[in-house]
Amino acid sequence: PYTGPSLQRTDEIKANHIPPAMYNIYRKPLVLHQGRMQWLFDHEGRRYLDLFGGIVTVSVGHCHPKVTAALHDQINTLWHTTNIYRHPKIYEYVEKLISKFPEDLKTVYLVNSGTEANDLAILLARAFTGHEDVVSLQSCYHGYSSTIMALTASQAYRMPLSVPAGFHHAILPDPYRGIWGGCRDSLSQVAGSCSCVGDCVTSEKYVHQLSELVDNSIPAGRVAALFAESVQGVNGTVQFTRGYLKQAAELIRSKGGLFVADEVQTGFGRTGDAFWGFEKHDVVPDIVTMAKGIGNGFPMAAVVTRKEIAEAHTRAAYFNTFGGNPMAATVGKAVLEVIEEENLQQNCKDTGKYFIEQLMQLQKQYPVIGDVRGKGLMLGIELVEPCTKKPLDRSDVTDIMESIKDLGVLIGRGGRWSNVLRIKPPMCINKMDVNYAISVLDQSLKDYLQNKI
Ligand code: PMP
Repeated sequence: PYTGPSLQRTDEIKANHIPPAMYNIYRKPLVLHQGRMQWLFDHEGRRYLDLFGGIVTVSVGHCHPKVTAALHDQINTLWHTTNIYRHPKIYEYVEKLISKFPEDLKTVYLVNSGTEANDLAILLARAFTGHEDVVSLQSCYHGYSSTIMALTASQAYRMPLSVPAGFHHAILPDPYRGIWGGCRDSLSQVAGSCSCVGDCVTSEKYVHQLSELVDNSIPAGRVAALFAESVQGVNGTVQFTRGYLKQAAELIRSKGGLFVADEVQTGFGRTGDAFWGFEKHDVVPDIVTMAKGIGNGFPMAAVVTRKEIAEAHTRAAYFNTFGGNPMAATVGKAVLEVIEEENLQQNCKDTGKYFIEQLMQLQKQYPVIGDVRGKGLMLGIELVEPCTKKPLDRSDVTDIMESIKDLGVLIGRGGRWSNVLRIKPPMCINKMDVNYAISVLDQSLKDYLQNKI
C-alpha cells in the first residue's frame, strides 16, 4: 500500500520547494509509486498501462526481475567511483556494449545523462576536427544545460536567449510539415507526398540547405559536427525524408566535420528493424550518444566513438566521479542480456508493426488524426483540426490525454505545438496491450468528438 504524502501534501511541497519550471503533464497530477514491467500503480492503487515509460527511460520493463536482482547484488558488494581504480563490472560491460556496434566504434565513455553525453560529444568533435561550430536540426532535443540548450532547438525547452555563436540549426527534413515535404521510411506514408523508390528526392533539397548553412554561416565552413536523433523524439516522433541522414553525414564529413548520432531515444532495439536507429539510415556515425533505455531507469549514459577520436582528447585527463560506477555497469549489462534473452528488438518490430497498423485504422475513422508515424515501439499520432494540418488546440489535446489516463493508459505528448501523442512503452508490451490501448484511444476520441470531455 501507498505510504507517502497525500496528493494535497505533494501540492503544497511542489508549490513551496519544487522549481516552477518543472511541470506535471496531467491537470490532476499522478502520484506513481510502483511499477511492474508495462504496468504502473498510483497512490490510490489504480493500475495503468504505461505507453510512455520508454521516454522516461524504461526499456525492458519496470523493475525487471533480472535487472533488479543484478543491481541488488552489486549494491551489497561495492558502491564507488571507478575512474581512478578498476572494477571488473565496468570492463565486462564495456566489452558487451561494444559488441553491439560496427567495428570502428570501439571506445566507450560512461557518463550520467543524455545531456552530459552530448556535451562530451561536442568536446570530442572539437578536439578531433579542430573546428568549433556544430549543427543540429530544427526542433531537435539533445538535452538541457547551459551549453546543450544551444544544441537543442525545441523552443519549449529553450530559455528565451539568443543561440550562442558556434551553434546552428538546419531545416528539418520532416515529410509531414517540412517546407519541401517528402517521404519517410515507414509503414505509414504522408498522404499526397512523393513515393520515391530508394532515397526520397526531396532529401537533396534539405541537404542542399544544410550545405548552404555550413558554407554561409560558419567561418570558412569549418564545421565540427552535425548532431541528429535517428527519429526525433521530443518533437513528436519525426522521421526524416528517406536518405537524408546518410547524405547529410557525407556532406558534413566532406567539410571536415563528424556525424554524431543521438540514440538516447532510438537505441537498444527500440525501432525494431535494427539495434540502433542509425543502422536503418545506412550510415555509421563517428560518435554515438545514448542514455535513458541504456539503464532501464537507472541513471547512466554513454558515448561511443572511434579510437582516433578518443585519442584526440588526451591533452587533459578525463575524470567523471560517477560515470560508469559499478552499479550502472551492472545494470547496463543486465539490460543488454534481457534485450537478447527476451528477444525485445524483435518484439519492438512485430508489436510495433501491429500497433501502427491499428493506429492507421483508427486514423481512417477520425480525421482529427492528421498523421500516424514512427518505427518499432516509437510511434506518434499527430492531432489536427479535422482535414487540415492546423495543430489541434493544446487544451483539447490535454483533455484527450486526461481521458486516456482516466481509462487506464499513460501516453506522452510532444511536437512543436504539443499536439502529438507519443507512444514509447517498455519494450515488453504485447498485442493484448495494444488492443487495450487502441480501444481506449477509440473511446477517448469518440468522447472528445461528442463533447463529452
Ligand atoms: N537526447 C535526446 C534525444 C533526448 O530525448 C533527451 C532527453 N529527453 C536527451 C538527449 C537528454 O537526456 P537527459 O535528460 O538524460 O539529459
